[in-house]
This record gives sequence, structure tokens and C-alpha cells, in this order.
Amino acid sequence: MRGGFGRLNYGEAPKGPPLTRADLVRIGRYLLPEWKPSLLILTCVLLVAILGLVPPLLLREVIDKALPSKDGMLLNLLVAGMIGTRLLAGLIGVWQSSLTNVVAQGMIFDLRRGIYERLLRQSLRFFTVTRSGEIQSRLQNDVGGVAGVIGGTMVSLVTNTVTVTFTVIVLFKLDWMLALVACAVLPAFVLPTRSVGQVRARISKETQERLAELTAYVQETLSVSGFLLVRLFGGQAPEIKRYGEKAAAVRDLQIRQAMAGRWFMMWIMMFITIGPALIYLVGGHEVIAGRLTLGAIVAFVAYLGGLYQPVSALVNVHVDIATASSLFRRIFEYLDLPIEIEEPADPVRLENAKGELRFERVSMAYAIGAPTLVDISFEARPGQMVALVGPSGAGKTTLTYLATRLYDPDEGVVSLDGVDLRQLSLADLPRWMATVTQETTLFNASLAENLRYAKRDATDEELERACRLAQIHETIAALPEGYATTVGERGYKLSGGERQRLAIARVLLRDPRVLILDEATSSLDSRSEALIQTALEPLLEGRTSLVIAHRLSTILRADLILVLEAGRIVERGAHAELLARGGLYSKLYNEQFRIETEA
Ligand code: ATP
Repeated sequence: MRGGFGRLNYGEAPKGPPLTRADLVRIGRYLLPEWKPSLLILTCVLLVAILGLVPPLLLREVIDKALPSKDGMLLNLLVAGMIGTRLLAGLIGVWQSSLTNVVAQGMIFDLRRGIYERLLRQSLRFFTVTRSGEIQSRLQNDVGGVAGVIGGTMVSLVTNTVTVTFTVIVLFKLDWMLALVACAVLPAFVLPTRSVGQVRARISKETQERLAELTAYVQETLSVSGFLLVRLFGGQAPEIKRYGEKAAAVRDLQIRQAMAGRWFMMWIMMFITIGPALIYLVGGHEVIAGRLTLGAIVAFVAYLGGLYQPVSALVNVHVDIATASSLFRRIFEYLDLPIEIEEPADPVRLENAKGELRFERVSMAYAIGAPTLVDISFEARPGQMVALVGPSGAGKTTLTYLATRLYDPDEGVVSLDGVDLRQLSLADLPRWMATVTQETTLFNASLAENLRYAKRDATDEELERACRLAQIHETIAALPEGYATTVGERGYKLSGGERQRLAIARVLLRDPRVLILDEATSSLDSRSEALIQTALEPLLEGRTSLVIAHRLSTILRADLILVLEAGRIVERGAHAELLARGGLYSKLYNEQFRIETEA
């Protein structure tokens, strides 16, 4: 038995410790190809920090030297120096931002592509248990958030550490006693910051989750199928209410988040004022006593800004790191999704499949302990038709999923031409096997593009030929834009019957050896029904087929009928012998198929 089910709760962000060393190494690996710009960024940060130290020193010279000696030339030079260093720092800052952006966007690109690739390698199971909004949110918001982590958190961490270190050194060099006073104030705002930070982290995490929920909800209700469901069941009012509740939760959280930051800012601002006041008090007495120059105090106060601001950012940085950690955890969780449908390391190549489909003692369960298919064995020889019948929920669809390797069996082997499907390349399998389902999936693109999904290099003549065979060419030709007509979201601009005939044309273009067909149960009008039957003829002709049968003509013509009940084959054979046996088949026949005969 596969131990897969329930292994991951796909819908929830993983909780756990902050990033491990391995995670950090991994983030580093993404940045490694960008080591050159990263090194440049670091150099820029250092230069900006050093340049930031210069103006207060020049200010001290203005007050202590240029003004007392009434040296206008020196004053001009010093002021020009102040402006010059700021300007230079600004320019370097701009360059650094552009470098950071390139690095961050490069990493985002790699992550997005990696996740997308990983998602396409999941089994159908993943998509049946994960809300599409959740996937969207990870791919867009979480990965997008990396820009903030690199451009914000990482750069500010380096910038502030460098600035604080340099500033503290300069302060102690200027006057150690004043430096001690300046530093003594620090714990007063470092300590409360920690708890504020925790609150902010909690709110921000909750906001992120609620936002993802809101996105998922919008996705679900504001799609064609969602809208249809809402409208047809008159669900507008309750849905608007539910949306309102979810949006209100986000609103409240965002207000709380902003306010948590606001109180903190007030506290910081207070200390940003108190710090200089204390310096003026202590330093002032020093000046009166003649132990310190006026310029030194002014320079000192100017440096304080360079100390308090970065320190407050640094004490807060663990909040950003926590946010970044959960961001990366969510990203890595998707990058590490176990691949259930593995591409074989050394795939067997089927150059020309004959189309022999075989199930040998196949069992499969969606959930542990509740088998969906048990011990299924049968063979469809090239060109044969195998019909699946059975009550609803018997496992017919699941069986077709195994035939196309949307799932792998837990036990037993499904093979094509004697080759276990797990040994065939995932790209090769759809070359030989194609499916026509009741619900046709189309991309919102032109008819021609949708058709060419089956054969990229199909010529216009090939498209037309397939569509003629599928009884859809006349309909398409009558459209003002013909094959260039777009089909609308999920093909909703076409009728159900048209969509199905288009699907048949698409599979005809692919020209597979094995056809999996889920016959329509929905009652199409008799003309549409007849068209589909005519369209199916060239598709079934000369191919192996596995058909979930809903039509009398199918079971009558099938080479083998498998009767499924609760995941097992309970009867098998041709129509006449099964009917004569008087078991489940004859019961189903009388309930489902005879009506058709009578009609
Ligand atoms: P119907 O004729 O109504 O389409 P079916 O014979 O095709 O039914 P399946 O769709 O194969 O039946 O379903 C077989 C059983 O597996 C059902 O009990 C169904 O509830 C269950 N099942 C189907 N898909 C999943 C899934 N993704 N996860 C868990 N259980 C599932």
C-alpha cells in the first residue's frame, strides 16, 4: 500500500521552527548564481554606510573650525562636502536597489518555475484535495514576497548592522562618556520592541492566511462553474454575506497590524527625542566645563539618528525573519511535494504501440483502509472494445484513471503492449492513449489552438479533416471567425454537444492506439446525440477502447463487458451470456439499457 494519503495537509501552511541551516543553505544556493551582483550589493551597502558617517564630522568642523575662525572658504568646502557625500550615497543607493531588484526577481523566477514544474508532476490526487486558490496564492503571493525578503529584510539587516557598528565605533571615538549615555537609552526601546514584534508577527501570519482564504473563495465563486452554482441555487445573498465576513476578518486584522506598528513608532519617536536631550544635558555640562567642543556635541546628536533608527529596525528584524521563514517554508513545501507519478529514470520507448491494454491484479485506494478497486484483471487486445458497467460509485472512472496513469495502482500492474505504464515516459504515454470524457476541458483560446493541443504541428487541412470526421467542421466553418474563434472560459461559448465533438476531433488528431471513453449520460437532444455517435465511429475504428458504457449500442458491440460493483469485477463476458446469467448485469440492463431499446 502506498503510504501517501494523508501524508500532507496540502491546504495549510506548514508550522514549525524557524528556518533550519539546511533551509538557509538552500536559499543561499538560489542566490549563488547571483554572487557577483550580491557582492556588489554588499559593497554598495558598505559604501553608503561609510558615507553616512561623514556629514556629522564635517558639521563638527563647521562649528569648531570654520565658524570660530570666520573661514568662509573652509565653510564652503565643508558644506559642499556634506552635500557631495549625501548625493554620492544617494546615487550608490539607487544602483544598489536596481541590483537588488535583479537578484530578487531572478530568484522569484527560478522559484516560480520550480514550483510550477513540481505541481505539473503531481498526481490528480493533489488537485482533488487542494483548493486552486491556495495554489495561486503560493505561486503569486508567497513567491512574490521573496522580493520583499531580499530587497527589504536582507538588505536592511546588512545595512543596519553595518551602520550601527560603524556609528558605535565613531561615537566611542568622539567621546566615550556620551557614547555610554547614548547606548544606555537603547534597552528602553529594545525590550518592548520584542513583544510588539511578536504581536505583529502573529497578526501578519494570520492576515496572510485569511488573505489566502479570501483569494481561494473568490476563485471558487467567481468562476464560470462557481457563478453557475451560485446563481442557479439563488445563493447570491449568503455568498455575499460569507464574502463580507471573510473580507471583514482581513480588514480587522490589517487595522490591528497597522496599529500594532503605530504604538511601537510612538515609543521609538519618544526615545529618538529623549536620547538627544540627554546628550545635550550631559554633553552641555562637559562643554561648560571646557572638556568638550560644541561641534562634538552637535556631531554626536547627528549620529544618534544613525544609531536609534537602525537599532529599532534590527530589533524588529526577527519579525521580518519569522515572516520570511514561514514564506520560505511554504515555498519549500511545494518545491518538496513528493512526486507520486514518477517519470522512470530509464523509460522504455514504445516506437509503435499496438494497443494492448492489460490490468493484472490491480488494487487501488484513495484513502487507506477503503479500497476503491480490488484485484482487477482483464485484457483488451489490440482493436478490442472493453465496456465498463456498474452502479454509481463502483469504481469505473477510477479504473480509467489507472489506465491513463493519473494514479498508480497500489498493487498489481497496468501495462500497455506488455510494458508497465510506470516504465513508460510520461510524455510517451499520452502519445498512445487518449481520453474523451463527459466534461470537455478547453483552454480559453481559439478553436484551432485547442485542437493543436493534441498535435502541435497539425496543418489546417489536418484540422479540417479531423473536424469533418468529428461532425463539427460545418459548425465551425459557419462561425464568422471560423477556426480562429475563441471558445471562451473553459469552452463555455460552445454547446455541450459541440464541445464533445471538438474533443473527439482533438483526439482524432492525436491518433492514439488506445481510447478511453466516458460516454455521455446527460441527455443531449437526439440530433446532437446522433452527431456524437457518428463522430465516435472513426475514433473507435481500429483502436483498443475502454468505455464507461451508458449506451445500449456500446454494450452490444463490446468484445468484453466488465461488471463492477464496489470496486470488484463481479461478472465478465459478452452481452448475451451475461444477460442469460441473470445476475447484476441483467438487473442493470433492465434498469439502464432496456429503456433505450424500448425508446
Ligand atoms: P459514476 O458512475 O457515478 O461516475 P464510478 O463507478 O465512475 O461512478 P468512481 O468515480 O470511480 O466511480 O468512484 C469510486 C469510489 O471512489 C466512489 O466511492 C468515490 O466516492 C470514490 N472517489 C472517487 N474519487 C475520489 C477521490 N479523489 N478521493 C477519494 N475518494 C474518491
